[in-house]
Amino acid sequence: MTDEILIKKALWVRDRAYVPYSNYPVGAALLTESGHIFCGCNVENVSYGLTICAERSAVVQAIAAGQKEFSAIAVAGDLQKPSFPCGACLQVLAEFNKTMTIYIVTDKKIIEKNLVELLPHIFSF
Ligand SMILES: [Zn+2]
Repeated sequence: MTDEILIKKALWVRDRAYVPYSNYPVGAALLTESGHIFCGCNVENVSYGLTICAERSAVVQAIAAGQKEFSAIAVAGDLQKPSFPCGACLQVLAEFNKTMTIYIVTDKKIIEKNLVELLPHIFSF
């Protein structure tokens, strides 16, 4: 049931994305170990490099609320085909849980992956 709520939240926040340049909205809903959900959407900037992805936006929301134990994230981008998190977002998510579940939402199916499947060589020192 929580997974369904997580996916619905990702789709809901996707509609709030600020994407005047790419018109590529993405929503992410991040589930904490304590059962809270934090949502984020991509926010673009005229200086493209300042754009923040939905996944990192959700992480920022959670950290600001004092949460840092994450168990899963749902990502809804282009619903016609899977929108996997970018490498930067995977690295940021790995900072908190290297084995968290990642749900990729499309119109036809939900793809479930483990973070290490998408980023097998996580940067660390
Ligand atoms: Zn990203």
